[in-house]
Amino acid sequence: SKPVVAVVGRPNVGKSTLFNKLIGQRLAIVEDTPGVTRDRIFYDCNWGGRTFLLVDTGGIEPHSDDVILSHIRRQAQLAIDSADVIIFVVSLPDGVTATDMEVAAMLHKSRRPVVLCVNKCDSVGGLPAEFYEFYNLGIGEPLPVSSVHGHGTGDLLDAVVDEL
Ligand code: GDP
Ligand code: MG
Repeated sequence: SKPVVAVVGRPNVGKSTLFNKLIGQRLAIVEDTPGVTRDRIFYDCNWGGRTFLLVDTGGIEPHSDDVILSHIRRQAQLAIDSADVIIFVVSLPDGVTATDMEVAAMLHKSRRPVVLCVNKCDSVGGLPAEFYEFYNLGIGEPLPVSSVHGHGTGDLLDAVVDEL
C-alpha cells in the first residue's frame, strides 16, 4: 500500500492551506480561527516519481485550553501512528510555542522521519533571525515555506520523498 505522509501541528499554523497548495486544489477547509471539527482529509500525491497519500489533520474543539491540548494531542498522535513521514508545521510569526515543543516531543518518541515546515515565511527577502529559533525544536533543519504564496513547497516535497 502507499506510504502515508501526515501534516501535523497546532491549529492555525496553516496545515490546511499547505495541504491545499501541495495538492493544487482547495479540498481542506482553511479557517481564520480554529474551532471546527473536521474529518481527516486524504489525497493521492505524486512527486519526483514517488506516490504517497497526503493527510491533513484538524478536528480541534476549543472548549477550554485543556480540551484543545488534549484534542491536539489525540489528533496528532493518530496521524503520527499511521504515518510513514510527518510534515510538522509551525508558524514563523508565532515563533516556537509550548504546544510546538509538546508536539515535537511526541514526534521524537514516534521515531518516525519528520520534515519541519516553518510556514508563513511570506517575505521574499532573506530569512529573519527568528527563523533559526526553530532549530530549538530538535527536529533538524527547518524549511521555510509560504503556503499562501507557494514558496518553498518544492524543497519541502523533495525532503518528504527523500524520507520515503
Ligand atoms: P490550520 O488550522 O493549521 O489548518 O491552518 P489554516 O490552513 O486553516 O490557516 C490558518 C490561517 O493562517 C488562515 O487565515 C490562513 O490563510 C493563514 N495562513 C496559512 N498559510 C499561510 C502563509 O503561508 N502565510 C500567511 N501569511 N498566512 C497563512
Ligand atoms: Mg486545518
